[in-house]
Amino acid sequence: MGASDAAARIAGLADECVKCGLCLPHCPTYALDATETESPRGRIALAAAAVAGTVPASPDLRLHLDHCLGCMACERVCPVPVRYAALLVETRAALAPARPRPHALLGVLSRPRLLRAMAAGARWTLARHWAPPLARAWLPEDSALRAAAGLLPVLPSANPGPASPSARAARGRVALFGGCVQGVFERDAQIAAQRLLQAAGFDAVRIDDRCCGALAAHTGDADRARHLGERVRAAFEGSGAQTLVTATPGCLGTLRAALPGARVEDASGLVAAHADVLSFRPLEARVALHLPCTQVNVARSGDALQRLLARVPQLKVQVLPTQAQCCGAAGSHMLEFPQRAAACRGKLLATLPNPAPDLLLTSNIGCRLHLAAGLRENGSSLAVEHPLTLLAKQLDA
Ligand code: SF4
Ligand code: SF4
Repeated sequence: MGASDAAARIAGLADECVKCGLCLPHCPTYALDATETESPRGRIALAAAAVAGTVPASPDLRLHLDHCLGCMACERVCPVPVRYAALLVETRAALAPARPRPHALLGVLSRPRLLRAMAAGARWTLARHWAPPLARAWLPEDSALRAAAGLLPVLPSANPGPASPSARAARGRVALFGGCVQGVFERDAQIAAQRLLQAAGFDAVRIDDRCCGALAAHTGDADRARHLGERVRAAFEGSGAQTLVTATPGCLGTLRAALPGARVEDASGLVAAHADVLSFRPLEARVALHLPCTQVNVARSGDALQRLLARVPQLKVQVLPTQAQCCGAAGSHMLEFPQRAAACRGKLLATLPNPAPDLLLTSNIGCRLHLAAGLRENGSSLAVEHPLTLLAKQLDA
């Protein structure tokens, strides 16, 4: 697609906005800055004007577009609805970012084998102890490398866990998406999802070491996003599965865009839909549940997950507020804008119940790492876990 085609498409998408402003109170960056240029309506107008050339695409203007968390709260509440996700991806592909992206770091994150090897190297050299203080001493506060070093102490094990053997498959075959960061650091949740789906009657197979392309799409690299999407489609078609399932809802929107016509589901929603055959052992505990933006706005499985957790006898669940409350992780945002990401996170962590719960649950690996790092900074030892991991532990065989 040429530049003028992209400009025409962005203009068409922007024209869908009737400028009612109903999305503004739901936008986390508008909640943070209280300025029109940090709102969905403002960004739509800026994108349209910049690609049309009616205003210069200055670094200041592009920074407002770069600040968008891609949480899609605006798209969910928009009465039109404006296709904001498509507009954001198109605009980021058409306009360079306000400042250079940390391409080398982002490239590692989207290559699971390399990421796994680097995680093993970091573990072997005990980097979690020496890298964060060194990064704080030598790198500026807004450095992506410094933000990445800050995650080292909270990284879950990158060891691949054992695959669950296939079970009865009355409900057909589903393919569990491996992903990149989730495949390396959220293996516990993927194994839990596989166990739960098998217990619910699915033949759950895995397709490993594939990135969905979300990071590439969100950072404007449309060609790489397309290439990665094609690899996932080929692996899914070769799996013989009827449905592709992701344990991390953050990958869902990109997977659905990459596999038009295929059934792509969030694991929590799919398990919840077939939970009638599952039973859980009681757990006397209080947990706080963080619903990631993509779970609420893209997967729309937040209610289903709450119903699923309610099936665990004696478990008390308190849901953290979601309106205009993104944790700030937002894909590469926590690395590219660590101070803004920390501000969002601080607002969210302030809503944790007091006294502290026994566990914090969240389904996105990015949110899990970002929240765990914030809790650690605050001196809290509260553990952060995927809800499916808790549910699989309580599954009554
Ligand atoms: S994006 Fe939707 S909700 Fe927001 S101002 Fe435009 S039409 Fe209104
Ligand atoms: S995607 Fe989220 S952060 Fe971006 S404009 Fe919409 S509501 Fe605001």
